[in-house]
Amino acid sequence: MSEPVANVVRVSKTHTPSEKPLTSRLRERAAAYWDSAIEARLRIWRIMPLAGGWRVGALAVLGLVLGALPIVFMIATSTMIGGVPNAVGAGVGTAEWDGLVRLFLIGAGAFMVQQILAPVQQMLGLAIQREVDGKIRDQAVRSVTSSIGIASLEDGKTLSKFAEARTPFENNFHTPGNAVGGMLFLIARYTQLFALLVIIWALFGPAVTAALTAAIFILRTGNRGGLRNYSAIWRTNGHLRRRLLYLRDVTLGSLAAKEIRVFGSMPWLRGRHHDAFFAFADPTNAERRRIYFKPYLVYTAVGLVAVAWALFSLVSRAAGTGMDAGELETGAMSLTDLTLGLQALTGALMLARDYPESDTSTQFGMNALTALREVEAAVIADDTAPRGEAAVPEDAPHHSIEFRDLHFSYPGADEVVFDGLNLTLEAGKSTALVGVNGAGKTTLMKLLARLYEPTAGGIYVDGTNIADFDIVQWRHTLSVVFQDFVQYEFSAADNIAAGAASVPHDRAAVEAAAAAIGMLDTLRDTPHGLDTTLARGYADGIDLSGGQWQRVAIARSLYALEKGARVLVLDEPTAALDVRAEAQFFDQFVDLTRGATTLLISHRFSSVRRADRIVVIENGQVIEQGSHADLMQTDTHYRRLFELQAKRFREGLDADEDADADAMGTVR
Ligand code: ADP
Repeated sequence: MSEPVANVVRVSKTHTPSEKPLTSRLRERAAAYWDSAIEARLRIWRIMPLAGGWRVGALAVLGLVLGALPIVFMIATSTMIGGVPNAVGAGVGTAEWDGLVRLFLIGAGAFMVQQILAPVQQMLGLAIQREVDGKIRDQAVRSVTSSIGIASLEDGKTLSKFAEARTPFENNFHTPGNAVGGMLFLIARYTQLFALLVIIWALFGPAVTAALTAAIFILRTGNRGGLRNYSAIWRTNGHLRRRLLYLRDVTLGSLAAKEIRVFGSMPWLRGRHHDAFFAFADPTNAERRRIYFKPYLVYTAVGLVAVAWALFSLVSRAAGTGMDAGELETGAMSLTDLTLGLQALTGALMLARDYPESDTSTQFGMNALTALREVEAAVIADDTAPRGEAAVPEDAPHHSIEFRDLHFSYPGADEVVFDGLNLTLEAGKSTALVGVNGAGKTTLMKLLARLYEPTAGGIYVDGTNIADFDIVQWRHTLSVVFQDFVQYEFSAADNIAAGAASVPHDRAAVEAAAAAIGMLDTLRDTPHGLDTTLARGYADGIDLSGGQWQRVAIARSLYALEKGARVLVLDEPTAALDVRAEAQFFDQFVDLTRGATTLLISHRFSSVRRADRIVVIENGQVIEQGSHADLMQTDTHYRRLFELQAKRFREGLDADEDADADAMGTVR
């Protein structure tokens, strides 16, 4: 039994990199290089077709032209300089002089065309970026929203990937489209480099060219390698960067503006920002120094040797001595060759450095896509629920919606939310659900909407499991308003019509829904009536109070009912309404909901008492149910809480939200 210990030692030893055989270490390094350098570039080429053939073609041709123009300039000016002594000797008006002028015009023309085309290249790059990013965004939205459930989108790891993908797209910086543009910009650089090396070959022969090519390759590789390693650190420290960006948003944004002032929390937030900044910057900068310093010394040395070698070749050629008498001609270089050689050598060495228009975008641009693909993969892997095929009958639910022996736990969570819940909602009636915080009321809504699937048991509509229904049809049957309903930065009318966005916008129905909940006059009084944008920060945009927003949400659900939904689910629909507005809503409730099957979650007993049936849930089970009158007849949990709240209300405390929550104890 002493074996395992020896095994452990042996296993851990074999994992020590320094003790691995050289060949396997080299293989690993080659594989890592392939993944991070070559495969990463190939990925950019693979998404290039998204840019559209003509744009890619145009930018490629432009790259060739922009790469060739400096060479034309270089040759024209060198030849011109070489021709100066003769032309000066011959005088103005001679053929030699005219030749000089022609060369000047060619050089100047090449320079000017380059100046004119450079912005065109930029513009095409931007167009390509927009096109590629737009398509990637659309594709991601389609695949992420096409999943039935939302489990993966509520998962911490996926959310973090989502945040990582979102920032570059929001800022239009370091996006996949940038990477494609950056890749195409390389054509100009490499065309120019290739032409310079041809000139160098012609002037100095293969040895100098080979040495220079090797030096340029080493310098470029070193540059890109450093950037690649830094990019890996940037990704690893992503969570620290996100915390920093969050704190910047909070301190500068309007969301926390009120609290920051009232609680005087700015120094505290500034402290947090300071800590977050150094938590991100210290390790990142330390890594940056580690990554760049040693290579910097090595590459600078290589660079200096390359420059020295190149200039020495030039000088020795010009002086006619030659470094290698066998290889180099004797005799001084012509003035043209000297000028051209000098320009070609310095030009080539300049191209051994970083390419700002390309390097960072090709290095960082694909990070957002990688993160996005990971989100998509998580969503797709999680999207295993059946889509269902059965048509939802036109009158469903006709009898009931039945939660039968329902078991549910959130994926990855130990806690059991429902452990055999049985509950029947009578069709056409209203059922109110009450229970302590965390009892599972919202979860029940999510299961009904099939945003999650039960672990066991099921939900049956007139006897058919909702998992068998065509998912799209089933969801059209529902009108659901979550507590955290979406406040779209759209017009009031669009905010209401969002309840049935798949049917043509019906202005009359929008107005009827707004009127039903007492919001029509308020909305009509805004600068553009129902077309006013419900958000500050837009011209004539307005913000609504919490209660007004809640009415808009209720109007949205009523609009959905008007457009064919038959099951209405409202989570705390009146929590932000004042007592009078709430009373008004419930007075009209039956009228407004027109016989729909209604599930109402509310912690205000004054509102749930009007429901046809009240259901109290606790620990994943129904513990009490019946009408208000039934439940008040015996000593129920419901009655105790109702009386407690009524007492507080009589004492005049109920209008206050905190007191209200208080009155519930922990019950909501
Ligand atoms: P209620 O609406 O009754 O307040 P919920 O349905 O929101 O309760 O929550 C029921 C339980 O499930 C709670 O313990 C809550 O913490 C947990 N829960 C809610 N949403 C998630 C989620 N996305 N992932 C994991 N657990 C969750």
